[in-house]
Amino acid sequence: AATSMEELVSLCKRRGFIFQGSEIYGGLQGFWDYGPLGVELKNNIKAAWWRTNVYERDDMEGLDASIIMHRLVLRHSGHEATFSDPMVDNRKTKKRYRLDHLVKDQKADVIAKVAEAMGESQENLPAVVSAMMKDTARAETALKEAGVRDPFSGEVGDWTEPRPFNMMFKTTIGPVADEDSYGYLRPETAQGIFTNFKNVVDSTSRRLPFGIAQIGKAFRNEITPRNFIFRVRELEQMEIEFFCAPGTDEEWHEQWLRARLAWWEAQGVPREKIQILDVPKEDLAHYSKRTYDLMYDYPTLGFEEIEGIANRTDFDLGSHTKAQGDLGIQARVEPNDDSVAKLVIPHPETNKPIVPFVIEPSAGVDRAMLAVLSEAYTKEVLENGSERIVLKLRPHLAPLKAAVIPLARNRPEIVEKAKSVKAQLQALGLGRILFEDSGNVGKAYRRHDEVGTPFCVTIDFDTIGQGEDTSLHDTVTVRDRDTMRQERVSIAELSTYLRSRLS
Ligand code: ATP
Repeated sequence: AATSMEELVSLCKRRGFIFQGSEIYGGLQGFWDYGPLGVELKNNIKAAWWRTNVYERDDMEGLDASIIMHRLVLRHSGHEATFSDPMVDNRKTKKRYRLDHLVKDQKADVIAKVAEAMGESQENLPAVVSAMMKDTARAETALKEAGVRDPFSGEVGDWTEPRPFNMMFKTTIGPVADEDSYGYLRPETAQGIFTNFKNVVDSTSRRLPFGIAQIGKAFRNEITPRNFIFRVRELEQMEIEFFCAPGTDEEWHEQWLRARLAWWEAQGVPREKIQILDVPKEDLAHYSKRTYDLMYDYPTLGFEEIEGIANRTDFDLGSHTKAQGDLGIQARVEPNDDSVAKLVIPHPETNKPIVPFVIEPSAGVDRAMLAVLSEAYTKEVLENGSERIVLKLRPHLAPLKAAVIPLARNRPEIVEKAKSVKAQLQALGLGRILFEDSGNVGKAYRRHDEVGTPFCVTIDFDTIGQGEDTSLHDTVTVRDRDTMRQERVSIAELSTYLRSRLS
């Protein structure tokens, strides 16, 4: 696995996985562009998730809802009021920081002083920060007296009282920009699932328990985006809302935890690199009864959230439904006079219409990509003492499944043969096969090791029957990424050979 974030950033840029957004104009913080190989890897991760969670189950449906949503959706979901991070300003540098990041980044003795001033343990940073948000005047004094430094200038800052900063991006809709003509870029894909609950139930005749899966962009105006693609402002999520009868929710929560851990293993992220955090009650989001955060051991960062698996109770459907009073909703929901739909489904036993509970496994595509890359990253010392970097990606995730390389690019018969072999392999539908006529086979092997291409197929003079050994006519050399062993395979058998090793 990778030992630092830096080596991943460098590989990603060098080989075309990930670039800084708007780079030629100086870049835009918190926005990243996925390059030629990045888009393939990302698509493969999403396809693997969709296969496992939609195609291989019999209790799931898919959805692709719009990104911009009605302001009332995000009002009734609770995001307008509570989707915020604690923020503090330094009057000297005019820089703004997310309070918990600011405190976490201080030296241990400074953190201890802040914690002590707030009457909390320095081991429990979330508690320190929530105490600071409860008593913001005391927080200001604590930041001052502990000598909290500005990470930008390195000097002791002149801090304001902390305050909540709402992270939703707002945009105007239509030609008239007045008070009511705005909408939000969704901060999570989940809300599109809740607002379509009735549409999906009515159009598929689903009964409890069942789930809806969605992959899509979400937007969060993070105060301090950082750590490469770990914390970005435009992100992609893979979310499931799994609806079940109240009382069965805890068992489903456990089942989804097991299912999700198994999925991560199948992507090459081993169980021992993930810690399960049973989120303490006081840190739970406004909708949650219980949440498991899966914490992956990222290089340089340490254990940070890769996926959250929350029991959202009947909060969301309850908040978005009309006629709440008759439905026996258990969560504390605000009144809703705006919704025109009753978000109910028959109870599996009593047949009485109920608002179901929901279990939500929510994973970030960008954070998945970082974890998968980090696990695959391998530095090997070869027998001759030289070093090679190889991405040992699972074949189903590899951006390129195979490269077809003509040994001599000035020999039309060889080039043509290579093109026809490429077309033959491409037609298998395994993913992208690259025709690679860069001219230097050794260099091509090294490049394909670095980007995780499982096989290189070389077309040479023997292939076209012009080598010394005529028995090798219509055979190719197949090189294995991991073992570096080369094997002679006949073109007739090549499809079967690769298909069995790639799927
Ligand atoms: P954090 O505490 O790290 O800000 P969160 O608890 O706000 O994350 P959730 O609201 O649970 O995150 O979102 C579900 C998933 O979406 C996360 O597990 C993560 O994989 C992804 N995610 C959330 N925010 C970001 C972001 N700014 N950049 C990249 N991925 C994100």
